[in-house]
Amino acid sequence: MQLVLATRNPHKAREFAALLAPHAVLSLPAAVELPPETGTTFAENALGKARAAAQATGAQAVGDDSGIEAEALGGAPGVRSARFAGERASDEENLAKLLREAPGGSAVTYVCALALVDPATGREEVFEGRCTGRLTDRPRGTGGFGYDPAFVPDDLAAAPGAERTMAELEPGEKAAISHRGRAARGLLAHLEP
Ligand code: IMP
Repeated sequence: MQLVLATRNPHKAREFAALLAPHAVLSLPAAVELPPETGTTFAENALGKARAAAQATGAQAVGDDSGIEAEALGGAPGVRSARFAGERASDEENLAKLLREAPGGSAVTYVCALALVDPATGREEVFEGRCTGRLTDRPRGTGGFGYDPAFVPDDLAAAPGAERTMAELEPGEKAAISHRGRAARGLLAHLEP
């Protein structure tokens, strides 16, 4: 099956191409405009993007929205994760702000909502994946993106002091436990009867 992916984020596009194989993930044509992320939930934003891509291309479209929720900040930055340190903030600036405001060792959760919209039938489905972890004191690792250098996932058992951040995992290791991997597996199960 061919799916148009409603994202302009190359990191996410790379992760989704691997996660949704063997389905072909087509990139979003340059002319298609995605709506601003004004929703109050990840699902709302994912649906907005998938609807826009499906309507513009006539193909089944997948939209996603994801972010990090810090328990110490009452769930912030949440849907504002990409803009936490300002509208045009870099990943590094957002990460630095999170580490200033939430203590090392405190609980964090990655959340990903994936929306599938079929313009032929009008059907809409949303799949959500979560990944819990703890914040490090200082960023480590060069893999992944965004908040990965400060996120130690709960799912990887390790001796105290030997824990790895998401940015220190191989792509396959991250996919096995990540919020995006979990949401993608929900979508895959739905696509394959
Ligand atoms: P959006 O889904 O485009 O709104 O972006 C969500 C933001 O959440 C990204 O810019 C990252 O800062 C963060 N984020 C989402 N998923 C991940 C991940 O797998 N690793 C690290 N940061 C992530």
